[in-house]
Amino acid sequence: MIEVDNLSKRFGDHVVLKDISLKVGKGSVVAMIGPSGSGKSTLLRCINLLTIPDGGKIRVGARTMSFQGGQASKMREKDLASYRATTGMVFQHFNLFPHMTVVQNVMEGPISVKKVPKPEARALAMELLTRVGLADKADTYPDKLSGGQKQRVAIARALALRPDVMLFDEATSALDPELVGEVLSVMRALAEDGMTMILVTHEIAFAREVADQVIFMRDGVVVEAGPAEQVIDHPTQAATRAFLSRFI
Ligand code: ATP
Ligand code: MG
Repeated sequence: MIEVDNLSKRFGDHVVLKDISLKVGKGSVVAMIGPSGSGKSTLLRCINLLTIPDGGKIRVGARTMSFQGGQASKMREKDLASYRATTGMVFQHFNLFPHMTVVQNVMEGPISVKKVPKPEARALAMELLTRVGLADKADTYPDKLSGGQKQRVAIARALALRPDVMLFDEATSALDPELVGEVLSVMRALAEDGMTMILVTHEIAFAREVADQVIFMRDGVVVEAGPAEQVIDHPTQAATRAFLSRFI
């Protein structure tokens, strides 16, 4: 479903991703863990093409893209937008449109990217808001919501483009501890529904519970990857053990 092959990215002299390869099967969940600066966000941004890789290949569904010294930066804006719609991204900060109501936030992508007629976009948005438990907040503005509610709207908004894969970059890191659970519940339900997901998280217990595969990154390389129980409970690499010991 998603295949990343020898992906590389540098910023100036700083090599941030070194020949990263990974595979995510349809319906499976991959958790990425690793210290700050290891390249986790950059890798997600490359998969979403918010950042254009320098080299390597990315395959999502039937679409394969090869990168070679900025070649893909010549991709047309229209193609980029339609590609990005297949990879829904949820960030640490919600980035909701403040001047739009909750339901308008969720409708916006289908209307502007996919030219879905308004009534249809609204019906889809309401269905997704129901799914994240926020149908009653449809006509509220984002500044009236808690952080956990905003993040659930952000998830509904990403789902509205019917992505093939959902990418979560520390979706719960900015939340007050008592609000983390409601967002993890929505993510867990998505995983159980068979959504293909890649998540960067510091919630190690959650990663162990929902992820099929865990990837430990450090300094732009995949140090260790495997089934969640193996990487988290029985890491083979000293660097993985040192990182995980901080969470116990
Ligand atoms: P964290 O856990 O703190 O979020 P991360 O693993 O997500 O860290 P990245 O954000 O991917 O790490 O950053 C990896 C490295 O790339 C860091 O050294 C960072 O400073 C650098 N970097 C990221 N984006 C840029 C950019 N646009 N320009 C220059 N350097 C960048
Ligand atoms: Mg990051």
